[in-house]
Amino acid sequence: MKISEKLTGENPAFSFEIFPPKKTSPIETIYKTLDELKDLSPDFISVTYGAGGGTANYSTCKIAGDIKNKYNIESVAHLTCITNTKEDILHILEEFKTNGIENILALRGDFNPNYPVRDDFKYADELVSFIKNHGDFCIMGACYPETHIEAHDSATDIQNLKRKVDAGVSRLISQLFFDNECFYRFQEKLAGAGINVPVEAGIMPVTNRKQIERMVSLCGASLPRKFSKVIQKYENNPEALRDAGIAYAVDQIVDLLSSGADGIHLYTMNNAYVARKITESISGLLR
Ligand code: FAD
Repeated sequence: MKISEKLTGENPAFSFEIFPPKKTSPIETIYKTLDELKDLSPDFISVTYGAGGGTANYSTCKIAGDIKNKYNIESVAHLTCITNTKEDILHILEEFKTNGIENILALRGDFNPNYPVRDDFKYADELVSFIKNHGDFCIMGACYPETHIEAHDSATDIQNLKRKVDAGVSRLISQLFFDNECFYRFQEKLAGAGINVPVEAGIMPVTNRKQIERMVSLCGASLPRKFSKVIQKYENNPEALRDAGIAYAVDQIVDLLSSGADGIHLYTMNNAYVARKITESISGLLR
């Protein structure tokens, strides 16, 4: 079912994101995670798409298809475009259709020196238009409360986002952030720009220091003092850091939901234990 039809806005959305196992691990490892996530009844689970394009991402399609057909949970397949030709994308859309996938998170993708950029798509809005013309999918898009790292300024980024939404995006999922005030300011800018589609807030529970350093260098999320203190205090105590990371994420989510956020998208990092702890803490707020 299309997410845009399933989620009518009565209750906030609650979704998970997972990634396919690395090439060195067997694909089966993800099914162990899914076995544990399924009882948490998310509204959908999205599956990331690795850099590289072409048929390199067969596992995204396979896993998203299995989430839907074997686990009976709605799935969203991520799809990036800068390393793909139109022909590649047509082929992937056919694979999605064959696997019963009805929802796509349409992305540009990041530049990666290992994978050459093709000329067919420059930005995600072009992929959105292309998908719209070649299938009947619910198309979602990414957005950036603290502005996309390459954008000249926030106003330009929002204008570009408006273009993407106008091309056919019916829901947005945000980049992770640790300071809810950034998200609230972003919501105001969206309203000012006439962007009215639901926006799920991207929350990443931080459970180890390396992970946070990597994420922050990739997306430039700002770190509130309260958050940095947690990292500094517990960086050498994995169990304490995990518990503090879960508590911080729960605190963020409670504040977001009580402020009327459209939904929460949990970047699970394939960690079912953390996803379960968070879900158990907030389940009453979702119904
Ligand atoms: P776009 O919307 O194309 O924006 C990219 C930049 O170009 C922005 O600075 C924007 O302001 C500018 N821009 C956009 N349109 C135009 C235009 N028409 N003219 C001029 N400038 C324009 N990456 C992966 O490789 N795989 C994944 O599975 C994946 N999943 C993600 C999930 C979420 C929720 C998020 C937030 C990000 C994800 N990413 C993923 C990362 C994403 O690919 C990068 O953030 C990428 O740099 C931008 O992708 P986008 O679709 O937001 O790009």
